[in-house]
Amino acid sequence: MEEQIENKENRMSGSKKRFVLDLDLPSWEEYVKEKHLPKFRAGQIYSWYSKGVLDMDRMTNVPGNIKTMLKEDFVCENMSIGKHLVSEIDGTQKFVFELYDGHCVETVLMRYKTGLSICISSQAGCKMGCRFCASAHAGFGRSLTRGEMLGQVLLAGNFAGERIHSVVVMGIGEPFDNYEELIGFLHLANDEKGLNLGARHITVSTCGLVPQMLQFSEIDMQVNLSVSLHAPNDTLRKSIMPIANRYSMQELLDACRTYERNTNRRITFEYSLFDGVNDTPECAKELCRVLRGIHCHINLIAANEFDGSPFRRSKPGNVRAFQDLLEKGGMTVTLRREMGTDIMAACGQLRRGMQEKKES
Ligand code: SF4
Repeated sequence: MEEQIENKENRMSGSKKRFVLDLDLPSWEEYVKEKHLPKFRAGQIYSWYSKGVLDMDRMTNVPGNIKTMLKEDFVCENMSIGKHLVSEIDGTQKFVFELYDGHCVETVLMRYKTGLSICISSQAGCKMGCRFCASAHAGFGRSLTRGEMLGQVLLAGNFAGERIHSVVVMGIGEPFDNYEELIGFLHLANDEKGLNLGARHITVSTCGLVPQMLQFSEIDMQVNLSVSLHAPNDTLRKSIMPIANRYSMQELLDACRTYERNTNRRITFEYSLFDGVNDTPECAKELCRVLRGIHCHINLIAANEFDGSPFRRSKPGNVRAFQDLLEKGGMTVTLRREMGTDIMAACGQLRRGMQEKKES
């Protein structure tokens, strides 16, 4: 634990300074105690940061000497918006956040009937190597800190001028490959004295890291879990997602059952449809068989195509037929609405473009 904190601190421009958004209220209380300041100052500072106010000059109730202290002891503006695009089709917004060390991550803001939903990244790049994913093709940089995940929500929300209604950790990276920081982020986001976002409004998506799924099923928070499945059996899944070589379908689905038993919550399975690969009637029937008995929802996705991807998206007729067969098999299914297609809103495509530009 100590080593991880030190590593995180050392990543901050080679200094020992921490990023202000990485701290929760108890950490601020500890800080003000060390500095012999009154305890209520911790609450004031935390409250400004939880509103996404990183600019100390705007902290009207914090005296100048404390601001100077903060500037000396912390990194305050660790991330900035490097690029912002708005879809002309549906208003979806895409942000590329540039981090202090040159890495960048993508964040997507979408409007639903219920309000604004944000899809954030948990890592700059990804090690999981899913063959259909642009993030995997752009390589792995590093994991984000909890504050860098929170920063995406706060800064994008401030930019939009509206409170974020729900968060999905489904952007670049595998959240469970950055487990400790992910859990730290969930606590920061859920804290009623902080962002105060209801746990039921947060969803974490994994490609299927079984040990962390089991750990996650025991946390005391009603956060939703989404699992990228994309195939009904091991052979097919291995040809799409390398993680299937580490954990079998049996192990994965057992972990889903444990999650369901421990949390009493419904799981979502993400299933991208690839033409002639996993979109056949046999696959649909097999999927119904293997998922029978699990309290779940299946989210079908028209696969994203990008240069270098070995897969093509399914034909619309095949998508409809696949959905019909699942419904006939008793499954609850939705077809994910595509958003922001004109601004490359799908995971990793923009970062990949920027990364390639930097490297050329
Ligand atoms: S789909 Fe998710 S887990 Fe798989 S490579 Fe892409 S970012 Fe990583």
